[in-house]
Amino acid sequence: MEENVSNGKQKARIAKKDVLEKLNFSMDAIEIANKERAVKAKAAQSGYNYINLYNFPITPEALKIIDQKDAEEHKTVCFYYGRRHARIGAVNLTDKNTIQFISQLKERFSHKSFQIYLISEHSFLKILSIYEKLPKIKTVKQIVQITKEDLAKFKEIKNFKQITESLKKVSLTEILNLLLSSAINIDASDIHIEAEKGNIKIRYRVDGTLHDAAVMDKNKWNILVSRIKLISGLKININDKPQDGRFTISLGKDQIDIRISTLPTVYGESVAIRILMFSRKSFTLTELGLREEIYNVLKKGINRPNGLIFNTGPTGSGKTSTLYAILSELNQENVKIITIEDPIEYRMSGINQSQVDEEGGYDFAEAMRSLVRQDPDIIMVGETRDPKTADIAIQTALTGHLVLSTVHTNSAAGAIPRILSLGVKNFLLAPALNMIIGQRLVRKVCKICRKKNALDEKQKARIQKSFSSAPDEIKNRIDLNKLDQPIFYKANKCDKCNNIGYKGRVGIFEVIDINDEIKKAITDNINISEEDIKKMASEKQFITIEQDGILKALEGITTIEEVFRVV
Ligand SMILES: [Zn+2]
Repeated sequence: MEENVSNGKQKARIAKKDVLEKLNFSMDAIEIANKERAVKAKAAQSGYNYINLYNFPITPEALKIIDQKDAEEHKTVCFYYGRRHARIGAVNLTDKNTIQFISQLKERFSHKSFQIYLISEHSFLKILSIYEKLPKIKTVKQIVQITKEDLAKFKEIKNFKQITESLKKVSLTEILNLLLSSAINIDASDIHIEAEKGNIKIRYRVDGTLHDAAVMDKNKWNILVSRIKLISGLKININDKPQDGRFTISLGKDQIDIRISTLPTVYGESVAIRILMFSRKSFTLTELGLREEIYNVLKKGINRPNGLIFNTGPTGSGKTSTLYAILSELNQENVKIITIEDPIEYRMSGINQSQVDEEGGYDFAEAMRSLVRQDPDIIMVGETRDPKTADIAIQTALTGHLVLSTVHTNSAAGAIPRILSLGVKNFLLAPALNMIIGQRLVRKVCKICRKKNALDEKQKARIQKSFSSAPDEIKNRIDLNKLDQPIFYKANKCDKCNNIGYKGRVGIFEVIDINDEIKKAITDNINISEEDIKKMASEKQFITIEQDGILKALEGITTIEEVFRVV
């Protein structure tokens, strides 16, 4: 009884507190609204635009245009940074210093048109608080730099043999330049410098596979590691903990981003160097290696104004490049595209790219929630791997946006059970889904040294099995009775391909258009399997990754060994 009375009193107290809080809140709200109105009136008087930025979603990219220090000093923020326009908000547009600061900004970004807005102190303070949530970017003071000229000295070095020879001749300070320059010439994406018992092993990653490139004396190692650390802003005296750093080299129009990570090992520190060439990459669907039948299905999917498009495959299968190629195809002036990535791998102009910061709480789901308010037409979300992101992606697709994302599964059909396993409602997924792509990258066989060769029994059996379920049109392209004859190429060795036998890569693809039949099957059965979907797809002229790869081998683009290695 007593307990009930005290419960009742407590409830009353809570209710009273609620009312007071609400009252307080509304008094604040009225005051704020009055102030906003005053700023709006002032803007109208002086001929400026006005905006209330309090709940305005701002991308980190826009915010970063103005340093936090400058923002505080001039009470000025950039709240929109698009392809051709930038929008700036300032609290005091009669202040001389502020006006001067804004005109300097305009000069720095002379290719953009700037729109200036008057904002309230209240708006400004809210935006200032967002700076604190931004991913912190380490600014590295470069004491030593590598220049275009440093690299140009080694422009003749184009194969592994030359690297070993040159390593013996160059000075200690030039070793890093030599390694970087030759890696760029060879189109290597990574350099691994590994301390071993007796010496230093240098390996290059070319077209996704690691190759021994050279061996170096161990006595040079300490100096080389120190130099790499110095350039990339790492602590030289720390060698018992892994460190990550970076630096940039300008090569005229190209900019090369170099990421360094060090790792202590039993025989000393090992260093991995990743080379990211931003402007050299071009992303077009035709260059990816899509055969016409697959390209047509893909085109149909990406030209729909809304829906969810997933690209699937393991790490390093080229998923992101394909999404970039789709975005560059859709990137037109009247279309607003926003990406949420981790990390941003390539810069694309005309697109708002933003970077997630999981540790800072700005994860895929959070980023998506805030960016949808910027009213984009198309959103690319780096990866869908958690229930929250999947839910928001589906909602966004259902509300009239085209959403592109990747899912880590081995086949296109596998994406559906994978997404459902995240707890997503099947009756929401079905109408949202538009298309699923599956892909791998295969190395292209070197055309100079490739040789036609007979297949072994295992390969023959696998091709026969793979083509037994192929659409008739595809089946007819290969005469299964001729498998005994040398109709496929094998990789060989020559100078042109650095004795690897392969040079460059191309995608092999499968694309499932999510038709009404598949949608209905997903709605009817939350436990729908990969096999169920494959079966429905193959009734509609579906070409699998493996079949696409075999056809590319038949055309002499790659080899059967390579296709079976990656599929
Ligand atoms: Zn070759």
